[in-house]
Amino acid sequence: MTMTNAMIYVHIPFCDSKCFYCNFASGIYDDNTKKKYFDKLIDEIKFNATKGFNITSIYIGGGTPSSVDADYISRVIQNIKENYIVDKNAEISMEANPCSLSNEKLLKYKQIGINRLSIGVQSLNDI
Ligand code: SF4
Repeated sequence: MTMTNAMIYVHIPFCDSKCFYCNFASGIYDDNTKKKYFDKLIDEIKFNATKGFNITSIYIGGGTPSSVDADYISRVIQNIKENYIVDKNAEISMEANPCSLSNEKLLKYKQIGINRLSIGVQSLNDI
């Protein structure tokens, strides 16, 4: 039996600063709020768990997902893999801002299976 393909979008609403033109659900929050958000996000991932779909794409957007500790992103992907059927060739994407990337974070993203980064740049001029 062929399973229906599906995709998962995960919203990370945290940014290091709020751009004046931005209408996305995003903002600057403290570490405690971030921790509580990710705890609830993991609850939600588990609550909606299903093995009825073949997940071909996971997209982690925001906000600026690269602005948070990479361990949070690792927990999200790990829990998706445990609670859903993720295709072995799934595209796992994450939005990133170059200012919040580091070698350590990039290595971690690779280790946890992220195979595509969507890089957002607000300006190429330092001001
Ligand atoms: S970094 Fe992106 S998501 Fe965050 S406030 Fe600016 S435009 Fe919005």
